[in-house]
Amino acid sequence: MRRPRSPVLASAALALACASGGGAPLAGRVVDLTHPFDSTTVYWPTGEGFELTVLSDGPTPDGYTYRANSFCAAEHGGTHLDAPAHFSEQGQTAEAIPPERFVGPGVVIDVSPRCAGDPECTVGVADVRAFESRHGRIPEGAIVLLRTGFGERWPDRAAYLGTDERGAAAVAKLRFPGLDAEAARFLAEERRIDAVGIDTASIDPGRSTHFEAHRVLADRGVPILENVASLGELPATSFTVVALPMKIGGGSGGPLRIVAILAPGG
Ligand SMILES: [Zn+2]
Repeated sequence: MRRPRSPVLASAALALACASGGGAPLAGRVVDLTHPFDSTTVYWPTGEGFELTVLSDGPTPDGYTYRANSFCAAEHGGTHLDAPAHFSEQGQTAEAIPPERFVGPGVVIDVSPRCAGDPECTVGVADVRAFESRHGRIPEGAIVLLRTGFGERWPDRAAYLGTDERGAAAVAKLRFPGLDAEAARFLAEERRIDAVGIDTASIDPGRSTHFEAHRVLADRGVPILENVASLGELPATSFTVVALPMKIGGGSGGPLRIVAILAPGG
């Protein structure tokens, strides 16, 4: 670009850049990757569901409408964040994670052809390498989204979790795909990703009892995004993820609003 001759022209050129190229990351279609929080929202068998209590609804004596509710929810249900503190003694709590960590280039590793019908399916390093051979190396700072196909089962608890029973005894009956520990280590250490998300209730497979992927990621400070919705609407690459969790002081996680912003024309 030619250097503008005056400060006025310089600021005009800057304004033009912001209006076109400079604003490009926010110019594309936005895809909401968040399940709604309501009475159907899936929580872990040991957690209560989402509770909305109406405090006020409708016209006031002074003639205007006023609505307000309170809500009660576990940190780990619906579309949500697992902060590193969830599984790591020294891990960051929700409010301490820098927001830069939640905004970055997204990729979808789509294992749904193999996993959509198989609750025992795990995502391994071979899946990551297969993705990279088709789409290129996962960039440092990426937000990696794993599409198992189980997201399409939401909010049918039995189909999504493997059981619709509740309580501690139901945990042993959970069956859904997840990430294996070696692939978790590979993404954290060899690809230095900013966060990883999945369209199931947990980054570890449902049958996991020691939560290895959670621990590997938490020990390396990688936030985890669970119950991510609508991954089938995304391309494999060329989009930006914005995944902003509720900033709970001391939180081990929390409700999350996550969207993808597609490249213009995408
Ligand atoms: Zn969680």
